[in-house]
Amino acid sequence: MNIYALITTYNRPDILVERAFNSVLNQTQKPHKVVLVDNSTTAVTKKTNKENFASAFPEGVYLENRGSPSASGTWNTGLDWIKTNDPDAWVAIIDDDDEWLENHIEICSKRMDDNDAVLSGIQVLVDGKVTEETIPSGLSPSDFFAGNPGWQGSNTFATVASIMEAGGFDESLLCTNDRDLAVRWLSLTGKRIAYTSEATVKYRLETNRECLTMNSGLGKQTGLLQFFNKHRAIMSELDVSNFIERAKMFDVDEKWFKISGQNNDYPGFPRGPASIPTGITGTFRKWTIDAKKSYWRWRVRPLPTKVLGAQFTRSREFIEIDITYDCNLHCLGCNRSCTQAPTKQQMEVGDVENFVKDSLSKRIEWKKIRVLGGEPTEHPNFEEILYALGGYKLEYPQTRIELVSNGYGKNVARALMRIPPFIHVENTAKTSSEGVGFYAFNDAPIDDEKYKNSDFTNGCSNIEDCGIGLGPGGYYPCTLAGGIDRIMKKNLGRQKLPESDDEMRDLMAEFCKMCGRFQDRKFLPAWYRGQGDPSVQSLAWKKAYSQWRVNNE
Ligand code: SF4
Ligand code: SF4
Repeated sequence: MNIYALITTYNRPDILVERAFNSVLNQTQKPHKVVLVDNSTTAVTKKTNKENFASAFPEGVYLENRGSPSASGTWNTGLDWIKTNDPDAWVAIIDDDDEWLENHIEICSKRMDDNDAVLSGIQVLVDGKVTEETIPSGLSPSDFFAGNPGWQGSNTFATVASIMEAGGFDESLLCTNDRDLAVRWLSLTGKRIAYTSEATVKYRLETNRECLTMNSGLGKQTGLLQFFNKHRAIMSELDVSNFIERAKMFDVDEKWFKISGQNNDYPGFPRGPASIPTGITGTFRKWTIDAKKSYWRWRVRPLPTKVLGAQFTRSREFIEIDITYDCNLHCLGCNRSCTQAPTKQQMEVGDVENFVKDSLSKRIEWKKIRVLGGEPTEHPNFEEILYALGGYKLEYPQTRIELVSNGYGKNVARALMRIPPFIHVENTAKTSSEGVGFYAFNDAPIDDEKYKNSDFTNGCSNIEDCGIGLGPGGYYPCTLAGGIDRIMKKNLGRQKLPESDDEMRDLMAEFCKMCGRFQDRKFLPAWYRGQGDPSVQSLAWKKAYSQWRVNNE
């Protein structure tokens, strides 16, 4: 059976050559083939790595990471390639900054027969000094809940088939990927593992260097919570207490484990079928929506509003928070004007902390808090903001906290891995800045003959379905109103949480007349909305953006 050396690297070409390449080159027993998977972020670094690799291993296989932009995605890219090209192969993994002793493959290979994995011992070096030596033996999943008893990326030596049977590395975990694989691998039935009882791997940690995995801070905390949440169901009470005790060594407060899961959260938005109705059904459904819109258009005229009251009432249970108006995409007709009037304006962490404090002191139970933007992961402190909201969830554990992301690009994908597990992620997975299915936000009803005489204090269904809005300008009946105020510069946002008897009708009167969502009245399926042109800008908006540009020049 062939042995493949799988090297993974991230942004450190010199260390890659000095440690991983030399480790493989110096082996007393050479691997059958060497595969390098590059997760580096710049084209220059990738070019350097590729050239150095070709020079060290002319027969080697160079790949770029095709999975998530993480250590797991990098390992999985290599494992997939090996499994496809040589399904019976063994794989010996080494990270760019770790080292093997010269006899690592030779010693491991002697124990391959009748086994599916062979584990060697590890020397752990912190800043170049050996701090411990771990010689694993007789491992069980429970051992990995109390710590890592000696299965790291760089001493992984196993059949590629068994690693893939275990599910490969989990690309959604921020750290502890090796422990997670070990738990799943050791839970497989019929798999055999041997131990070499010799430390032939040097696992290096450097306190001042960016690593493939995270070793401290909110990243480490989030990674441990993700791992705990994933494996909680198979952990005994002793495992739980061991895991939490170890997490405290990384300054993780025990309180976060109380809310690590999402199972008891209030429900999210109901999801309708994504399919587009065609034929008679499609015609009938379109006709039905047209008919309802005609009624709703009459419903918001001044007289029916006076007689029947406002059509919608602002929520007391849901809130949406625009933490930044910065966005990595520039969609046509963005309903926060991120494209039409770009800015980096954002909320401060303290603003969100004040919202939490006020909500708790007023004993408001939010059923749903949604974090949006712009692209919320563009906020440099988005993790702190999510943990500030986590502080609220500690008091109201059923509150559903969602982060809504466009999911566009590698930076956003990296950021999304940092979301703590008590936050739901709604990834709209945009692939371009074409606002497919958007309504024409900049088609102001005040410019529309059919709507300009409406009573705009009616708002629209957003104020019930999505909730009130909080943004850099304060509190509004919805987040769109806050975004409109950014352009109109009326500065009307409430600076404190609105009192329960505050209907915020004055703000609707001011901002709904500009909002293209007003004509829809209620949530309409994307296939219906897709008939409109999101790039339309009516006169009032043309003037507003032109004035905004003057003010911001
Ligand atoms: S991704 Fe969202 S916030 Fe960003 S430009 Fe597009 S619509 Fe606006
Ligand atoms: S019409 Fe626009 S601004 Fe008014 S409540 Fe609806 S979404 Fe908000």
